[in-house]
This record gives sequence, C-alpha cells and structure tokens, in this order.
Amino acid sequence: MLETHLDFNLLSKCSNCGACYDICPMCLNADGYDPRAVIKDILEGRAERWLSSESIWQCLECHYCLEMCYQHYGFENAMTAMRLYATKKGVYPQQVKRGWDMFVKTGKLGEPNVHARKRLGLPEPKKSGKDEFLKLLALYREAKCGEHEEERT
Ligand code: SF4
Ligand code: SF4
Repeated sequence: MLETHLDFNLLSKCSNCGACYDICPMCLNADGYDPRAVIKDILEGRAERWLSSESIWQCLECHYCLEMCYQHYGFENAMTAMRLYATKKGVYPQQVKRGWDMFVKTGKLGEPNVHARKRLGLPEPKKSGKDEFLKLLALYREAKCGEHEEERT
C-alpha cells in the first residue's frame, strides 16, 4: 500500500538528506518525533512497527518541510501515508475515530465555542456547509449503490 502512495525514489533521497529535522517544529519540540526513522523503516520494509506509534499522528501538517524541500517531497508525505496505512489497518487513536464519525454525521469536526468567541470579542461563527455536505454525501452513496446494483446484474 505504501508503494502506491509514496515515491520511494524521492523518499530515499529524503532519507539521505534529513535537513528538515532542524526546521520541523515537532522534531524540535516533541521527544521521540523523528520522521527520518519512520522513512528509514518504510524504505527497509519495516513500516509496520510504526503503526501503533503516536509519532505518525503528531505531524502538524504545517507543510514547512514541503515548502523548504528542494524536491518538494519528504517528511510530511511519509507521515501522511503512514496515517492512511494505519487507518486502513484499523489502528488509530480514539480521537480520530470520534472526529471521523462526527464529520460523516454532521459535516463538522467540532462546534465553535460561541461563549468563548463572544468573550474574546470575535464575530459569530459563519454558517457551516453542513447541509450541502450531507446532501453531497447522500448523492455519493446513492451513486455508489447504483454502481453495485449494475455490477450485480
Ligand atoms: S523533506 Fe526535502 S529537505 Fe527535508 S529532509 Fe527530506 S529531502 Fe531533505
Ligand atoms: S509538516 Fe509535519 S513533518 Fe513537516 S515540518 Fe510540519 S510537523 Fe514537521
């Protein structure tokens, strides 16, 4: 699975480079967070050992490594691919599952705290695209059902 989501050629250059370690906010601040080790294990066929590690969920997706990278590739792609891999294997933190369930049900990842916003003098939160999202989801599911029906006939 990782082969289809990652370019191993670019990743092996990243593995030899490692420059982002010194600019990544998580590498600099979180003990044990080191995408270089994850990438090395991906390349050597030992990615499984990271499936239950909290490290792969700690990437901030700040895109700093992508922005700075001479090949516009590397740390972030590896961590994203590992999260996808872990999810497909059914290994993920409970917060991720809760967030996903809420998103599919409501089209939102959380509710804005209206009282806190008011206290801070922030404007009313904008209307979310929840209704449109749920309509799209229903249409998508209908289309998928139609496809399966056709396959069966
Ligand atoms: S992401 Fe790019 S710059 Fe950063 S370590 Fe990998 S190859 Fe080097
Ligand atoms: S995207 Fe992730 S790996 Fe890249 S610099 Fe930000 S925290 Fe670090």
